[in-house]
Amino acid sequence: MSERKQILVTPEEMEEQRQYIAELRTRIEGKGLKYHIVTYGCQMNVHDSEKLAGMLHEIGYAETGQMQEADLILFNTCCVRENAELRVYGNVGALRAYKQANPNSIIGVCGCMMQQPEISDYIRRSFPFVDLIFGTHNLYRFPCLLLQALDSNTTVVEILDSEGAVVEHVPTRRAKGVSAWVTIMYGCNNFCSYCIVPYVRGRERSRHREDILEEVQDLAEEGYKEITLLGQNVNSYGKDLDRQYLFHQLLRDINGVNGIERIRFTTSHPKDLSDELIETMAECKKVCRHLHLPIQSGSNRILKAMNRKYTRENYLQLVEKIKKAMPDISLTTDIIVGFPGESEEDFKDTLDIVEKVRYDSAFTFIYSPRRGTPAAKIKDEIPQEDKKERLARLNELVSSISHEKNKAYLGKNVEVLVEGPSKTKADVLTGRTGTNKTVNFKGDPELIGRFITLRIVEAHVFSLVGELLKDA
Ligand code: SF4
Repeated sequence: MSERKQILVTPEEMEEQRQYIAELRTRIEGKGLKYHIVTYGCQMNVHDSEKLAGMLHEIGYAETGQMQEADLILFNTCCVRENAELRVYGNVGALRAYKQANPNSIIGVCGCMMQQPEISDYIRRSFPFVDLIFGTHNLYRFPCLLLQALDSNTTVVEILDSEGAVVEHVPTRRAKGVSAWVTIMYGCNNFCSYCIVPYVRGRERSRHREDILEEVQDLAEEGYKEITLLGQNVNSYGKDLDRQYLFHQLLRDINGVNGIERIRFTTSHPKDLSDELIETMAECKKVCRHLHLPIQSGSNRILKAMNRKYTRENYLQLVEKIKKAMPDISLTTDIIVGFPGESEEDFKDTLDIVEKVRYDSAFTFIYSPRRGTPAAKIKDEIPQEDKKERLARLNELVSSISHEKNKAYLGKNVEVLVEGPSKTKADVLTGRTGTNKTVNFKGDPELIGRFITLRIVEAHVFSLVGELLKDA
């Protein structure tokens, strides 16, 4: 048994929230109230919204996809990129007339953006019709806060600026399907110079292994076949506890859970990716042959300015080790272009590392300063036009490599887990390979949730097209 060092929310506190849920249920019973949640940002936020939805369902609200017919609207915000932040202001502001027409409705804003006092303050002052503002650390207190908001004429605001505790047993309503997210840790200790996450999500707090394994077991019993383990840096899992039980050991244990067929995880900081983890990935059949390994820049000078704590040489050695252990691995990454001070030479180093690693795909971004981070204080002298031009060159290279890698699948048989109907074409289903390739194909909806073998007949930049085998 590992020693429990996390601050856990006490059973008494959780019981208190359950009582608020019961009280709210009695109050709204028979009213047919509906909720709508708008989620911005990463999978952690998507999973947080699943918890908010879980609590709302227990209270008795039903979900609606139409914001205009909702009695309760929540914006779960993200502060990692500026454009998501601007969209929040626009979308919240657009509800002014809606609130006037529906004075009994509840409008709430939560998530990472609210952990920044100047932003939560701005929301409260600029949009006084917002009923409820809360942050990331007290999400589990949503029932109590909602009850207060229903009884209050002014905005209810509760932001905790401490790390927050590890909260277990929050009701969760997951998206229907075959895959489920499981958060294994919260926060980040890395302080990359451009990133706001450690300031708004706090330091690393790992969940206890028994709690994670129990959740995975429950998901298997509910019929989920694939799980994705979430954390800002999953490779640090367990280091804030007694260091006797680390991420690779957790992966091995989850690999042993009956019913779970595929295990994915994100995100991995290269400096913390251990040999034991590579070995475990190679040995555990259920761990997918896909690794998202953010490089951010190929220039040592820029990596230093970003405080990434590895060099391009360290990263390339790591990739070599990974490919040696798993020659069929698919590698994806994140890259920022136009970090302050990035010269053409630095940018060419990034293109060079993309050529060398040959990523299956990459999320590429133009640097945008985040208030409160060290990088925001560095003078940014790169003209926007140059940044856009670099991004276009990078995307062209990434796409050509992705296409080439996808073409290598032509004529091959691949196993996919069928996830559901295609978002763009009727009669077409979508599945994913273990290597995280999206494969579209014509097939019976009865196949959803099953593992099937497809022959790949078309290869595009972002997806593959497959055909069912005749004898399947
Ligand atoms: S590892 Fe760096 S980029 Fe990732 S969340 Fe932590 S500080 Fe942000």
